Amino acid sequence: MGPARAQRLAAAGLSTIRDLIFHLPFRYEDRRGALAVSEAAAGAAATFRGRLVGLRRIRTRRRSFSLVRGFVEDASGRLPVVWFNRPYLVDQAAEAEEYLLHGPVRPAKGGGIELVNPSCERAEGGAVHGDRVAPVYPAAGKVGPAALRRIAAAVLAGVDLAGQSPETMPETVPEELLERHGLPPLGEALDSLHRPGADADVEALNGRRSPAHQRLIYGELLELQVALALRRRREEGGPRARRYRIGASLRRTLAGIPPFPLTGAQKRVVEEILADLAGPHPMHRLLQGDVGSGKTIVAALALAAALENGDQGAFMAPTELLAEQHHASLARLLGDRYRIVLLTGSAADAEAGRRRAELASGEARLAVGTHALFQEAVEFQRLGLAVIDEQHRFGVDQRGLLLRKGERPDLLVMTATPIPRSLALTAYGDLPVSTLDELPPGRSAVRTEALPASRRGEVYRRLRQAIAAGERAYVVAPLIEETGMSGGRDVASLAEVEARVREALAGFPVAAVHGRMLAAERERALRAFAAGEVRALVATTVIEVGLDVPEATWMVIESAERFGLAQLHQLRGRVGRGRGQAICVALHGRLTALARQRLEIFAATTDGFEIAERDLALRGPGDLLGTRQAGLPSLRVARLPEDWDWLVRARDDARELLARLDGEALGALQDKVTACASY
Ligand code: ADP
Ligand code: MG
Repeated sequence: MGPARAQRLAAAGLSTIRDLIFHLPFRYEDRRGALAVSEAAAGAAATFRGRLVGLRRIRTRRRSFSLVRGFVEDASGRLPVVWFNRPYLVDQAAEAEEYLLHGPVRPAKGGGIELVNPSCERAEGGAVHGDRVAPVYPAAGKVGPAALRRIAAAVLAGVDLAGQSPETMPETVPEELLERHGLPPLGEALDSLHRPGADADVEALNGRRSPAHQRLIYGELLELQVALALRRRREEGGPRARRYRIGASLRRTLAGIPPFPLTGAQKRVVEEILADLAGPHPMHRLLQGDVGSGKTIVAALALAAALENGDQGAFMAPTELLAEQHHASLARLLGDRYRIVLLTGSAADAEAGRRRAELASGEARLAVGTHALFQEAVEFQRLGLAVIDEQHRFGVDQRGLLLRKGERPDLLVMTATPIPRSLALTAYGDLPVSTLDELPPGRSAVRTEALPASRRGEVYRRLRQAIAAGERAYVVAPLIEETGMSGGRDVASLAEVEARVREALAGFPVAAVHGRMLAAERERALRAFAAGEVRALVATTVIEVGLDVPEATWMVIESAERFGLAQLHQLRGRVGRGRGQAICVALHGRLTALARQRLEIFAATTDGFEIAERDLALRGPGDLLGTRQAGLPSLRVARLPEDWDWLVRARDDARELLARLDGEALGALQDKVTACASY
């Protein structure tokens, strides 16, 4: 190909033959058995072979939309054809040439039938997949599907993929596993995806159910699971440095810590953690529990077990606000037994230095903090257990930094974003998961209403009544200030919402918090809200995670269509943490179809797991945890949850493969694994 096209391909990430080999078709056209034009009938896609006659451009009212009409003609007759947005066809098509057209035949508006927007290739010489099943490639940047089909066919004609020479296409899956699952070798699979045979099952190809697809799906998931298992081994690093005593006296101590009876789920999860801590290997466990399910006390008890065994603990939170709040609650729970220090970016240098010195000497037993905990200057005398709250806010590297501050410490990562089962296995591999699936007693589900902004007046009147009756409320705005980016008018800005709330609640104390104000100021407002001196808190999403004011029972979310489902659920989790009936009103502007679905789901259920599954279905897995969950691997062929069965097989096989390797082989493999999924 010429240099210009090569450059365009390279810009789209296709520079080598290998890149091209892995740029897979996403659809197949069945062009076997071209029909005579006289046989055409409305229905599925069909192939015709004939000359193009009477092509002409048709003007439309929309400037961005053009039509070409004409006929395909063969010995049996002629059939009308219409193309969308391909005006150049009129100039390119040569009247004398024969073309192969493939596309759906539909009833035409004015009666009769027509061939709609067919693919079109010259039949003689040029047609690559004349009488066969033709692959359709996703466009690569500026290079369209038709050009890609030609390029791929020409290039791959010179590559002996199915020949299975290891130089051509090294096999990645052990033969034994291919045999176990009845899958073809990689080269053969790739070959049949690019060049389906004359007897190919087009339906299976289009449904990703061909043996070739299965081979790629399984191979991809197996690589992922092996990489995850290797990472976990590396992080665990071997047997635990010190065995813990988890006996009757420790249990008595732990029993005295919670100020309330634990829920059944909390008791079960604490037992799961204690069993890990008593075991020979470091614990690496994920604790997931919906907002308000009581993860903090579970973490506190795990930490107490480590501290009672003479080790130190670390507790990491993603924001200062949250770190401060955790520091306060852990101090309440554990403070009279152990010295606890807070390490955030905003402590004065001298003070921070003093706290670090206490950690290094072992005088302080527990450090609660933000990213400040990763700093090199932070040293522990004997770090035994690291807890990471809202773990999806942290990167894998950061977790590694924290773990390296101890000698193979235990790790408990916590998340309130419940991860559907299928994704947990992709994101975390074999990591054991504990789930808090029960809320503390006395909670009733938050009553949720999604209302158009036109009913705002009524909502704020109800809010005023609630405040007058002694309730406390959050009002959430999506942005700090009008950015103008979104066309403005429908989007509530914080200042605007604050003014509105002050007016509606005239006579009651109101405060506002956002991410850009001074930490001390924000802290003051939050404290006043927690103490009841402020009755309504206007806030951006800084309150999204962790904030715990059980007396707050009302929440109004402005411009709710702007938030993702998971975020709405997190926000709502700020209320309904006490005994009263909590109410959440999502006020929304104009809705897209997708936003409407989100709000319908949001109003219909308060079950975080259900919300996560529905969110997955709406958005697709890549996006589920937002861009912050950078670690989720991008899968080329596999799709979840559809390929769940292959995922489980891959997990089991990865486990078996690694169990067979000795230390040396394992080390070599570990060195090879550079990038893989998060946990
Ligand atoms: P999250 O899982 O969202 O981090 P928290 O740990 O902040 O939840 O707990 C939410 C609230 O529930 C806190 O006020 C906490 O004190 C309270 N809580 C937790 N467990 C119980 C329980 N077993 N009984 C009563 N209240 C509880
Ligand atoms: Mg929490």
